[in-house]
Amino acid sequence: MAHTRGNLFILSAPSGAGKSSLINALLKKHADMKVSVSHTTRSPRPGEEDGVHYHFVATDEFKALIEKNDFFEWAQVFDNYYGTSKQAIESQLNAGIDVFLDIDWQGAQQVRKIMPSVQTIFILPPSKKELEQRLNNRGQDSADVIASRMAKAQSETSHYNEYDFVIVNDDFESALADIEIIVMAQRLTLKAQKNRHQVLLNSLLK
Ligand code: 5GP
Repeated sequence: MAHTRGNLFILSAPSGAGKSSLINALLKKHADMKVSVSHTTRSPRPGEEDGVHYHFVATDEFKALIEKNDFFEWAQVFDNYYGTSKQAIESQLNAGIDVFLDIDWQGAQQVRKIMPSVQTIFILPPSKKELEQRLNNRGQDSADVIASRMAKAQSETSHYNEYDFVIVNDDFESALADIEIIVMAQRLTLKAQKNRHQVLLNSLLK
């Protein structure tokens, strides 16, 4: 079987829709899927590790990376900078790994322009009430932060219309299966299969 370049996916969602848990579950199940580790200027939350959840950098360092043209995309989200380094994705895609970008709508808009083949997925919470509860249950942010995130959730959600796929995270397992179906379907497109099965196709058509 010929080697095929991995596919790139973007997952966006309002904070509290359960995106991180879905990505974690997906990676646990599939060794051939990876999430890109972004750079951010925000401080680590309890339990977050540098180089695992994010590359935590100072604002000066982030700006220097922008100057060096090291980012595939970057954006200011809430009060901090976030960005995907080119290095974080290219080598993985070339190794045939499917890569997920956990980024916001601003990043998604930039990536669509650079790589139109990207498949974009928007995750919705099942209701506003549930979203509010999920943001409260985290217990890691102050009431002010939660209120501001509810407002920003609405602004993030207003971009759902720009995405290829929309998933409602009501039942976790079925939302996970929905993502898997999208990834599997991409692996079966004509372009991917032509690449993968060159030898077979040649022999069948000789
Ligand atoms: P959090 O601070 O809760 O980890 O992330 C806040 C928001 O920033 C989330 O919507 C997340 O998807 C987005 N984000 C994380 N990394 C990146 C990135 O590299 N680029 C962009 N554009 N957004 C990101």
